[in-house]
Amino acid sequence: MSKPTPILEAERLSKHFRLRGGAVVRAVEDVSFVVYEGETFGLVGESGSGKSTLGRTLIRLYEPTSGRVRFLGEDVHRLRGPALRRFHRQMQMIFQDPYASLNPRMTVADIVAEGIDIHGLARSKKERMERVYALLETVGLLPEHAGRFPHEFSGGQRQRIGIARALAVEPKLVIADEPISALDVSIQAQVVNLLKKLQQEKSSPTSSSPTTCRWCATFPTASG
Ligand code: ADP
Ligand code: MG
Repeated sequence: MSKPTPILEAERLSKHFRLRGGAVVRAVEDVSFVVYEGETFGLVGESGSGKSTLGRTLIRLYEPTSGRVRFLGEDVHRLRGPALRRFHRQMQMIFQDPYASLNPRMTVADIVAEGIDIHGLARSKKERMERVYALLETVGLLPEHAGRFPHEFSGGQRQRIGIARALAVEPKLVIADEPISALDVSIQAQVVNLLKKLQQEKSSPTSSSPTTCRWCATFPTASG
């Protein structure tokens, strides 16, 4: 058996926030872990324990106070130029609040296709829309939803749009920050089942193809 490849490594990672007045919040303190390709990594902790801060540091929304994040062996916070663009494509995030994470002034098609446009993944307008329709179908939405705006959707549907947006660039790793905790209990199971189904479909342990999707998830706790 070949040695498994770490896809994500956190090495003694800390993220502190300095508040006005000088107090320091040690949101993430000395965290180390390794996630291998094909694994689902779950992080559990009470509200305020630093899960979102950790996720945001992993995906480079925050600079760490100390420590290192490696993605496919490379130090994430040192990436520049084409390597940084590649990283932004390969790691995606699904956010906790589907109301705050979608731009209310953009249509669903433009939200889902944003990464396709940024990374030049479609050769024509027709191909772009075909991809959008296929992604909407993948997450259980309809082609006619493409021209609508986020406020026309329920929380569960919005989270599906967020998932389609994350999948559009065929990422290798998705960080899901409590993706169902803001949803009605009655639809939480639907979204969890969708994520499970996508993980099974998109990851194949024998393939190292760049289109393979890998998942890193933080799961909700009772307190959120
Ligand atoms: P969780 O996602 O586990 O609920 P968070 O990562 O959101 O936890 O927050 C961890 C701690 O860091 C909390 O005490 C929170 O108030 C604080 N915190 C988070 N973001 C910031 C910020 N941008 N500035 C200052 N403090 C923050
Ligand atoms: Mg959080």
